[in-house]
Amino acid sequence: MTGPRAEIGVIGGSGFYSFLDDVTEVTVNTPYGAPSDSLFVGTLAGRAVAFLPRHGREHHLPPHRINYRANLWALRALGARQVLGPCAVGGLLPEHGPGTLLIPDQLVDRTRSRVNTYFDGEPRPDGARPGVVHVSLADPYCPQGRKAALAAAAGRGWEAVDGGTMVVIEGPRFSTRAESRWHAAQGWSVVGMTGHPEAALARELELCYTSLALVTDLDAGAEAGEGVSHAEVLEVFAQNVDRLRDVLFDAVAALPANEPRTCPCATALAGQAPGIDLP
Ligand SMILES: [Zn+2]
Repeated sequence: MTGPRAEIGVIGGSGFYSFLDDVTEVTVNTPYGAPSDSLFVGTLAGRAVAFLPRHGREHHLPPHRINYRANLWALRALGARQVLGPCAVGGLLPEHGPGTLLIPDQLVDRTRSRVNTYFDGEPRPDGARPGVVHVSLADPYCPQGRKAALAAAAGRGWEAVDGGTMVVIEGPRFSTRAESRWHAAQGWSVVGMTGHPEAALARELELCYTSLALVTDLDAGAEAGEGVSHAEVLEVFAQNVDRLRDVLFDAVAALPANEPRTCPCATALAGQAPGIDLP
């Protein structure tokens, strides 16, 4: 592939890259269809970074309609091996109120309608036939990416929560109070709508994936009031987008070089027969 290359991918909206002055818009097609939008490649702290608006630049894609396979594939095709996934979440515990930044170390999948693997046994339109592959997702996030994100937050005076479980719901509706109380009773920390299958697909492509979860509201069960409103989520996100961008950019600078990667993400397919060539 000719054109701009990137070593790091960021899945997040235009609030993160719109003011960079050397951004190039790149259209990437994948065997899985089109990503959410063009990829925007720019330089940050000497690192080439590809930004991909997860919901499209007009924010027209709800979480369950995002082509997660195309998104991760496109990032890898541009050269990215490390991916940062900032996202808005609801806090399930009173101590994780709006404005909390949490770097999760665990994930629970409560989605139900999403294509969540590249290894579905179905021949692709280009004739490639994926093998039967089972990757480990015991630890769904990259240990080195998490370290970089936590250090970046600390460096900006934002004490991020180190670890916790993100439960990912199908959406697009928010949880009922009973669902929310149940999630909290399991000991889970935050609830989101995009963290799965993003993390699982990244692992299948041997990408390093790190989630940066910004709490924008207390989820229904953790709150006595009216429950979550979309307006509230947008407002808190807007209040925090500048400092989240600072942390994100510092994390980009702190990520180790792409090769050789020493974390287990880099060898997730070792010993298996994927049947498809990774880009
Ligand atoms: Zn890794």
